[in-house]
Amino acid sequence: MAPTTAPGPPERVCPHCSTLTRTTDQRCPFCRRSYYRSGPGAIAGMLAVAVIVVLAGTAALMLLLFLPALETELASQVETVQSDLERQVRELEGAVSDEFDQRFGPGPAG
Ligand SMILES: [Zn+2]
Repeated sequence: MAPTTAPGPPERVCPHCSTLTRTTDQRCPFCRRSYYRSGPGAIAGMLAVAVIVVLAGTAALMLLLFLPALETELASQVETVQSDLERQVRELEGAVSDEFDQRFGPGPAG
């Protein structure tokens, strides 16, 4: 005769409150916390999130601190580029004017 085991939910020990219960539930009926302990993967995930938060915070802080200097630098760069562009346009105008004079002679005004 084979011993008959009553079919029922498996025994589980809660990792949080150490209560032994027969249940198929994913959570402890006493403390309502999960039977599954957060493994190293979860810890690594939380650590990664923490690192990202710290990095983002540092980046935001640096941006906040250096934004005025950055704006000044950007403004001076834009000014330099604009003056360069203006100078090139003037040179081009002069070159076009010279070319025009060479081909067609000076205009009636001189
Ligand atoms: Zn529990």
